[in-house]
Amino acid sequence: MEFMNKSTSNGVLLEEPTLFERSRPGARGTSIPTCDVPKINASAKFGNAFRKNTARLPEVSETEVVRHFSRLSTWNYAVDFGIFPLGSCTMKYNPRHNEEIARSGEISNAHPYDPEEWTQGHMAIIHDLTEDLKKILGMEDVSLQACAGAHGEYTGLAMIAAYERSKNRNRRTILAPDTSHGTNPASAAMAGFRIQQIVTGEDGVLHPDTVRAAMTDDVVCLMITNPNTIGFFEKNVKEFAEILRAKDAFLYIDGANLNAIMGIVRPGDFGCDVIQLNLHKTFSTPHGGGGPGSGPVGVSSRLVPFLPIPRVEKAGNKFVMQYNKPQTIGRVKAFFGNYGVMVRAWAYIKSLGSEGLRAVSENAIINANYLKAKLSNVLAVPLQNANLHEIIFNDNATKVGGLDTTKIAKRLIDYGMHPPTMHFPLCVKNAIMVEPTETEDRTELDRFVNAVKEIVSSGDTGAAPVRVFREKIDEAKAARELKLKYNFNR
Ligand SMILES: *Cc1c(COP(=O)(O)O)cnc(C)c1O
Repeated sequence: MEFMNKSTSNGVLLEEPTLFERSRPGARGTSIPTCDVPKINASAKFGNAFRKNTARLPEVSETEVVRHFSRLSTWNYAVDFGIFPLGSCTMKYNPRHNEEIARSGEISNAHPYDPEEWTQGHMAIIHDLTEDLKKILGMEDVSLQACAGAHGEYTGLAMIAAYERSKNRNRRTILAPDTSHGTNPASAAMAGFRIQQIVTGEDGVLHPDTVRAAMTDDVVCLMITNPNTIGFFEKNVKEFAEILRAKDAFLYIDGANLNAIMGIVRPGDFGCDVIQLNLHKTFSTPHGGGGPGSGPVGVSSRLVPFLPIPRVEKAGNKFVMQYNKPQTIGRVKAFFGNYGVMVRAWAYIKSLGSEGLRAVSENAIINANYLKAKLSNVLAVPLQNANLHEIIFNDNATKVGGLDTTKIAKRLIDYGMHPPTMHFPLCVKNAIMVEPTETEDRTELDRFVNAVKEIVSSGDTGAAPVRVFREKIDEAKAARELKLKYNFNR
């Protein structure tokens, strides 16, 4: 199998065959002495359990394997390469300090079946992280079991369903604004609820009259995101909480955007009953690629009895796994949840302290406002608000010349940057959504600003990206003729 090299101005990118294509009979990565143990008749001994043909695994050398995966690792854009300006989904740098702690032998060699006497230190970390998150959120208690934001949403809503059952009620409607993240209605449906959409005001936030007007006897919960998915801070949350409490209903806050409020305000103080966090967003644990995440859920006192088990509790001077919770919704994840992710978040919180966490939010807001100031005479800003933590542009100012949202995003790839979120949220046509986060310094923000300025001033230059190995692909064909299976007989 030949390499096809292509020189680009970004360096040389190598076409990479699969390891199966690379396979050469007899090639191997290990060299061990010939076996001197007599062969047994395995198929006679093990019958059908014994494999009849050897597994069709690629035969390659060690250098081939190492180089193959090292080359592939450079094909994905990563936050370690440069700015990752996705809006809505906080993508920030993960300090190496967290990694060092999570990878230490004491942590990484732990096994979930280790006896409790051996896992006291791990339980201490889980307990301590729970206590820290309780303080950060101002919530009565927190469960660390869910393993993604969406999973946390489901867990929180399942607790509301359990609360309803405990009161012999069956209210099924959840109110959610038109700006909500797609996972909100999906989680609600999975937990057996029905979503009723309510409309965000012209000023980009939700109004108490809208909520009041939508309150029927079937409404059990209002599910909002704060700061919301168009980047604004909801101002009327306390009033929402009062409207809901009066009906023994719940205020759910999607806490995926906590990166812009932590250390400044606590959701528990403005009446939140349930909130999920995304440790892989706000608390700087690696994110994406389908890797493990963690979606802790904070609850107010009404929902504490329903938290998932097991709970790590302190009994005298030792920690125990507590399963005895009669009203619990049960388990939502095996063992403790994604412990490795928790350790990274715990290390992050400990290294920053409360002042550091507040500085994270403040700098995230400053960076978003900086981008807005630098780019608002280049791209249109359809929704105006004095304060934001992520910013939505659209192509209204550039479309006349043919430079639409998709083209701007694809051109950014030629500048060696990940494109922002496009065409989301749906309430803004052709949105380009950018959340720089606090981890980008001014030099990197300016590099992004200059790239956007250059793209806009050069207008529509046709298909992009062109400075990468794979030029613009036929997206419709890729979606319609999906090929996932490798053909061994090729
Ligand atoms: C990312 C995000 C989610 C979903 O979180 P996952 O960890 O990806 O499941 C939910 N709501 C909002 C607002 C988000 O940004």
